[in-house]
Amino acid sequence: MILHILKKSQSLQDKILAFDPSGEWLTQWRRQFAALEIGHLRSPAVHHPDPNPYELRRFAENRSSELFPPYDLPGSRLFEEFCGDTIKRWQLGDRVIKAKVTRIQPKSGRFRLGFEDGKSAIARRVIVAAGSGKPHLPAWANQIQTQHPAERIRHSHQIDLRNLQLQGEQY
Ligand SMILES: Cc1cc2nc3c(=O)[nH]c(=O)nc-3n(C[C@H](O)[C@H](O)[C@H](O)COP(=O)(O)OP(=O)(O)OC[C@H]3O[C@@H](n4cnc5c(N)ncnc54)[C@H](O)[C@@H]3O)c2cc1C
Repeated sequence: MILHILKKSQSLQDKILAFDPSGEWLTQWRRQFAALEIGHLRSPAVHHPDPNPYELRRFAENRSSELFPPYDLPGSRLFEEFCGDTIKRWQLGDRVIKAKVTRIQPKSGRFRLGFEDGKSAIARRVIVAAGSGKPHLPAWANQIQTQHPAERIRHSHQIDLRNLQLQGEQY
């Protein structure tokens, strides 16, 4: 989203900031793709953060083996490196600040962001892109009567395939 905003108004380059507890771009994406051992994306090469839909194809010009059938699905490494390249091209490396937002309050026509460490910042506009939040289990999952180990019902966010031994397990 940030790149679409900058494409519309390059003058915001020095005014736009992202706040994330990790202090880096793509942390959550990287964590989830690693934990689920995902080899390639499920969306075709035109879906990515750069406003130019063909930019990933250009980046992958000599890496066609990392675009998977049937619709040229980008390999996870290719996609991550493309995002790194995009961050550099748009000079966004220093635009993410390590901070967790705990409060957003209107203040004299602006917003006051309160951070976990007690500090704060004033912003003219705020976009909340905090991810999917709490997992919601379907109702049937709470109605299961039989005894079962709690870890047998999990949201995908709670699964790390790198730590699981699933050989011989049945679904
Ligand atoms: C397994 C999997 C496969 C996927 N495959 C594809 C695909 O093939 N193609 C596709 O287009 N999409 C895919 N997606 C979806 C895509 O990854 C997400 O839509 C995208 O990453 C969402 O980005 P986001 O920045 O909105 O949220 P997130 O990546 O969830 O990031 C949210 C960020 O907000 C931060 N945050 C939360 N609360 C606070 C706070 N209080 N203060 C500061 N920061 C906060 C978090 O630390 C996190 O870094 C997939 C998702 C998953 C889980």
